[in-house]
Amino acid sequence: MAQILMAPKVKIDRKWQQWINGKFEDGASERQLYNPATGKPLTRVSEANAKQVDLAIAAARKAFDEGPWPKLTAAERAQFLFKLSDKIESQSDELAQLETLNSGKPLRESQYDIADAANCFRYYAGLITKPLGQAVDVPAPSFTTVVREPIGVCGQIIPWNYPLLMAAWKLAPALAAGNTCVLKPSEYTPLTAIALAELLQELDLPQGVVNVVLGDGPKVGQPIADSTLVDKIAFTGSVKTGKIIVQAATSNLKKVSLELGGKSPMVVFKDFDLDVAVDYALFGIYCNAGQVCSAASRFIVERSIHNEFVRKMTERSKKIKVGPGLDPDTEMGPLVSEQQLKRVLDYIEIGRTEGAKLEVGGDQPKGGKYEGGYYVNPTIFTGATTNSRIVQEEIFGPVAVVQEFTTEDEAIYLANGTPYGLAGAVFTNDITQATKVVKALRAGITWINAYHNTYTECPWGGYKQSGWGRELGTFGLDAYTEVKQININLDPRPVEWFRK
Ligand code: NAD
Repeated sequence: MAQILMAPKVKIDRKWQQWINGKFEDGASERQLYNPATGKPLTRVSEANAKQVDLAIAAARKAFDEGPWPKLTAAERAQFLFKLSDKIESQSDELAQLETLNSGKPLRESQYDIADAANCFRYYAGLITKPLGQAVDVPAPSFTTVVREPIGVCGQIIPWNYPLLMAAWKLAPALAAGNTCVLKPSEYTPLTAIALAELLQELDLPQGVVNVVLGDGPKVGQPIADSTLVDKIAFTGSVKTGKIIVQAATSNLKKVSLELGGKSPMVVFKDFDLDVAVDYALFGIYCNAGQVCSAASRFIVERSIHNEFVRKMTERSKKIKVGPGLDPDTEMGPLVSEQQLKRVLDYIEIGRTEGAKLEVGGDQPKGGKYEGGYYVNPTIFTGATTNSRIVQEEIFGPVAVVQEFTTEDEAIYLANGTPYGLAGAVFTNDITQATKVVKALRAGITWINAYHNTYTECPWGGYKQSGWGRELGTFGLDAYTEVKQININLDPRPVEWFRK
C-alpha cells in the first residue's frame, strides 16, 4: 500500500487558522478533521465564535466603505487576479494533494479542479476590463449612461464537494467587480480555502477585502446571512439550507443568489451508440463519487434498449476502481464524511424497501485499503416508481436509478418530474428529437450527446428548486454588481413644471 500511494507533499500537521482583517488568527474552538480514505484523524482547524464572525464582517464593511479595493481601477484589480491565478498554478500540486486529503476525491479530479479555479480567476480578471455599461440614446438634452458598480460586502457560503473551485466561483467575480468578501467554507473541507487565503496574503491583498471564517452553518454561516452589514449573500449548498438563507436575508433584504441541489436526468434514445451512452452515464453519476450537484442520477432509457443499457452499465460499474484518492490507480474515491456515508447507505436501504431492484453495488468495499474509509461501491437501481424517494430526492452519492420510457413525451415528462431543475441531457442522433427534448427540459445546464462538460464562460445555475440566479460567464459578474443609470442634462435650464 505504502508504495502505491504518493507521499503527500503538503504539510498537514500544522496550524489551520482563519483569516480576519488581513491576519491569521486562532478561533475560539477547534474541530477535528478526518481523512475520508481511512477514517483516521487528519488535522485540526480553528473555528470562529460569534465575535470573530462580527469582526470579519466589520473588516469587510470597512474595506468596502473606505477602500482602497473598490476604488482601484478595473485594470488594477485584474492585475491582482492574474497574479493570483499564476500563484494557484505554481502551487497546484500541493493544493491538489490538500484537496484530496481533505475531501477524499481522486487526485486527478483535484488537479482538474485546481486548474479550473486558476482559470476562473483569470477569466474574471479579463472580463472586468471589457465594456460593461451602456450609453442610451434618450431625447436631448439628456445623455444617459448605465454603469455597473459593486454591491458591497458579500457573504459567501460554500459546500464540501468542490472546496477550492467553489471558493473561486464566488471570490473571482466578486473581487473583479470591486466587492469585499466574507467567505465561509464547509466545516468538512476548509483546508484549501485557508491555503487560498495564504496566497492572498502573500500577494498583499488590502486588509479586510477577503476574510475567511471557519465553522459550521448555524454558528458561523447563519450570522453572515443574518447580518445587516452584509449587502449580498451567495450560497451554494442544499435546498434545505438555501431556504434558511433566504429567510435570514430578509433582515435587510440583502441580494441573494443560490446554487442548490439537483436530480438530473439523462435521456437515452434507442438510435444512439449504446457504448458511448453508457460511458457518459458512468461519467455522469460516478465522477466525484456522485457528489456533484449536476450529477446525472436518473437515466431515462428507451424501453427497447433498457435491459441492454442496464447490463452494460452494470458490467462497467463493477470494473470501476474504488480506492484512496492519492492512489494513482483509483478511479472513484470515498465519500467526504462519515455523515455522507450514512446518508448514502440510508438511501440505498430506502431504495430496497421501496421495492426497487438493486442491479449492482449497494454495499461498501471491505478489508485492506478500504478499512475505516467512507467508501460505497457504484450502485444501480431499476424498477423504481416515479414517486419513490430514490427517484425524487438528491442522494449525492454513487447511486444511479434507471427508468424506462416508450414515447418522447413520456421521456420529457419523467425528465422534468422532480422539484429540481439543475442539469439534464439527451442522447440521440436525431437532431430534431434532440433539440425538441433539450428545449423541453426545465433545467439550466443541458447537453446533447454529452454530459458534465462545462465552461467558466457559460452560466451555471438551475430552474425550479435548484436555485436563484446564475454563476460564471458574464451572468456571474452581473450577480456581483448593482446597475445604475446616470442621466446628464447637457443644457440645464429651469424645468418650469410649476409657475414662478
Ligand atoms: P449544506 O447546505 O449542508 O451546507 C452548505 C454550506 O452551508 C456549508 O458551508 C454549511 O456549513 C453551511 N450552512 C449549513 N447550515 C447553515 C445555516 N443555517 N446558515 C448558514 N449556512 C449554513 O450542503 P452540503 O452538504 O455542504 O453540500 C451539498 C449540497 O450542495 C448538495 O445539495 C449539492 O447539490 C449542493 N451543491 C450545489 C452546487 C450548484 O452549483 N448548484 C454545487 C455544489 C454543491
